[in-house]
This record gives sequence, C-alpha cells and structure tokens, in this order.
Amino acid sequence: MLRQLRKPTDEAPFLLCREALGRNCYRPVHPTWVGSLALSVLEDEFLDLSIAESLKCRSEDGRIHPNVGAVAVKDGKVLASAYRGETAPGDHAEYVLLEKKLANESLAGCTIYTTLEPCTSRNYPKVPCAQRLIDRKVGRVVIGQLDPNPIITGRGKLALRSAGIITDLYPESAMKKVEEINRHFNRFQAEAGVISRVSSDFIESAKNRRLDHWYESVNRV
Ligand SMILES: [Zn+2]
Repeated sequence: MLRQLRKPTDEAPFLLCREALGRNCYRPVHPTWVGSLALSVLEDEFLDLSIAESLKCRSEDGRIHPNVGAVAVKDGKVLASAYRGETAPGDHAEYVLLEKKLANESLAGCTIYTTLEPCTSRNYPKVPCAQRLIDRKVGRVVIGQLDPNPIITGRGKLALRSAGIITDLYPESAMKKVEEINRHFNRFQAEAGVISRVSSDFIESAKNRRLDHWYESVNRV
C-alpha cells in the first residue's frame, strides 16, 4: 500500500510504503525503489554497518568461509551488531548477535540485517541461524545475498517466510558490495557445485581411466 506524502524538500517526493517495514510503522521510501525493492532511506546506515561488520571477519582455519555481518534494529535503533567468528572461530554472525550479545533482550518484531542468507543446516547440536531467528520471533530479515552453497540456497529465506517473517534483499548497490567481499567464497561454492554434479555412477564407470581422461571428462560435465 502506497500513500503519497507531502514533499519533504524540493527534491523528488517521498512515498510511504507500509510493506517496506511490514508493520504499522510508516517510513519514507524513495519512489525509485518502490515496486522493485522498497527499503527505507533510513536503512542505509544499517546496511552499511552490517557490511562493515562483515569486513572484520578473519581467516579461521585456512578453508574458505564467507564474511558475514549482522545487525539487530528495533524501533529504528541499533541494538547490537556482530560478525562471523567474533566470539570464537566459526561462530555464525547471527548466533553471536542473538545468543552472545542479545540473549536477554526481547527481539520480537525487530529487524535483522545480515549480509548472508541465514543457514538452515548445522551439525548437531548446533542450531541453524534461520531457526534461531524464528525462535526469537523477529519480524523481518533483510539479506545481503543468498548463500551460494546449494545446500542452503533459498532455503533460509523460505524457512523465514514460512514462519511468517518478512524477508527483503539488500538493494542492488549494497548487494554488489557483499558479493565482492565474498568473491572467493562465491567462486569456491560455484566450483564445488560443478564437482558435486559428477555422479557416483560416473565415478564408478570411470575409475580405471587415466588421469588425463578424468580431466577431459569432468570438464565436459
Ligand atoms: Zn548460520
């Protein structure tokens, strides 16, 4: 639902977009964003903060991991921010945010900005971040980029939506920053996806081939 608001300045008029926040709280939205992605201009600082947090991630075990930053916002105020590995190597950003920093806060209805789609599977007894967000009854999750890991891709967003949580993606300019920061992780996952498409039947049928035949065959997959 959009409603025209008076011009706040001589610049292009701003609109009010109820769906942008998904609750009974109106905020000005630049009209050029309405219809594609309606994020409040006031949210830029939260997006920037989440990206700045993601840049604090450090290599943890020599393997390629994503840079992830997360921010919790309630009533327009930042409650806390966090990044992957902040409290211990491998700790997911949302876990640090929800359980290490905001364990005793009420997060019902708040908005979480996270630079990477929340995960949906973790080794037991760890709890996936999407489930943690659902359990804390957050109202909205804004995602920097979908997780390129095919085990996760889209499932985090879907899980949140299935639980009635509003989801948005970062606007194009911010998403590009996130994708650039995670370029090594994104490339690694894309290459891993090619390898995973080699079926076990193929491996069985080709296990006696010479190595150069393997390279030739795999590159044709
Ligand atoms: Zn996670």
